Amino acid sequence: MTATNRQIRLARRPVGEVRAEDWAHGAEPVPAAGPGQFVGRTRYVSLDPAMRGWLDDRPSYLPPVGLGEVMRAGSVVEVVESDHPKFRVGDHVVGSFGVQEYVVSDGKGALKVDPALAPLSTYLGALGMPGMTAYFGLLDVGALKEGETVVVSGAAGAVGSLVGQIARIKGCRVVGIAGGPEKCALLTGELGFDAAIDYHSEDLRKALRDHAPDGIDVYFDNVGGDVLDAALTRLAMHARVVLCGAISQYNNETAVQGPSNYLSLLVRRARMEGFVVFDYAPRYPEAARELAGWIADGRIKVKEHVVEGTVDDFPTVLGMLFRGENTGKLVLRLS
Ligand code: NAP
Repeated sequence: MTATNRQIRLARRPVGEVRAEDWAHGAEPVPAAGPGQFVGRTRYVSLDPAMRGWLDDRPSYLPPVGLGEVMRAGSVVEVVESDHPKFRVGDHVVGSFGVQEYVVSDGKGALKVDPALAPLSTYLGALGMPGMTAYFGLLDVGALKEGETVVVSGAAGAVGSLVGQIARIKGCRVVGIAGGPEKCALLTGELGFDAAIDYHSEDLRKALRDHAPDGIDVYFDNVGGDVLDAALTRLAMHARVVLCGAISQYNNETAVQGPSNYLSLLVRRARMEGFVVFDYAPRYPEAARELAGWIADGRIKVKEHVVEGTVDDFPTVLGMLFRGENTGKLVLRLS
């Protein structure tokens, strides 16, 4: 193969917000598939808040991306050359293939997906990692019960929009917290949430009192910081606080802002528990089956924010997550 493989590599470790100079844009020839390998051409790249954490040189649930390495990213590729017994030319495959136009893979960690069953982008969203995160975070970690009050932050995002809809399916009252009137209108309109709070313009504590008068049974936290603090003041007895993420803290140059109201966990006999979705990998098929059923019967509306571009647009598109410019799952479609 003589094509060129454009790639985005980590040039230096960002301090605070990620900047254009933190990335190196390069190109190299596309290698041929060796024995037991396939070559995939990237169709969709996933943009995830966790990417910010992978750039820091500190211990986490995955090793940091090394300086000079191709940026780690989930993507959907189309097999264009293969010497692999399981992956044929024309197959579509999801995996952690990085921000690059082509990947050579031995198939480890790769999953064949069917574009006839769902749009390819959905395998990075509702039927992919964010879907699994919403499903297991809410039902397993949150131990949700029918009739409870659920509050979710980052509610118009990839994970949050699914958390709220799953909670509605399970017969719960759902309050979403999101930035801006358009996102809030989406939540209470198309997505069927019972209430939405615009944390940019509303008094969050008062709004939580109004919309969760009997307290919050499950708070699903995607953002941390002040929003987490406010939610902690409204916990019901035996509440569960699901620590999914804390995007408001990912660009901090100083220490993470901890919750000052954590003693409400004691008073309310509540628990706060973090989780990493990858631990649920053996159970992904179970969640994917159920989510696909809810999508097919219209009980889950899939929200995706697809940006058309090239791998060179990756740094700009990544920044959209931190500026709240996405609604639903953010993906880069390589044109
Ligand atoms: P997302 O919600 O689709 O996108 C990020 C959203 O965060 C933005 O649209 C923005 O929405 C909000 N945001 C950005 N800066 C903020 C700030 N300073 N304060 C409050 N909100 C802010 O992203 P996602 O992929 O669904 O991820 C959501 C969370 O889940 C992230 O924290 C992520 O790290 C976490 N996560 C965890 C796991 C796990 O295994 N634990 C797996 C996947 C994702 P607004 O406009 O509403 O502010």
